[in-house]
Amino acid sequence: MLTTEERFDGAVELTLEQVVTLRRPAWTSSEQQDDTEFYFDGVHFWRQRPGWLHQLTPPSEVPADGWLHSGECSCAVCRPRTRLTA
Ligand SMILES: [Zn+2]
Repeated sequence: MLTTEERFDGAVELTLEQVVTLRRPAWTSSEQQDDTEFYFDGVHFWRQRPGWLHQLTPPSEVPADGWLHSGECSCAVCRPRTRLTA
């Protein structure tokens, strides 16, 4: 399913499209193959592998979903969750 779902820890998973649109730092959850994780700094995507330097990565090579914002994020996607639990 590609819908936004709440994880057990309350984090909201975002799609790649949401990450790019919101332009906030985001990273992928740790379920990626080869222990590779991806990070978005608000402008560029980076590939992170244990023991490797961070590598600039084109958007076409990053996961299409499974992205997370920080727990304190208050963007349009994360904010409704905060309001519900407040
Ligand atoms: Zn957010």
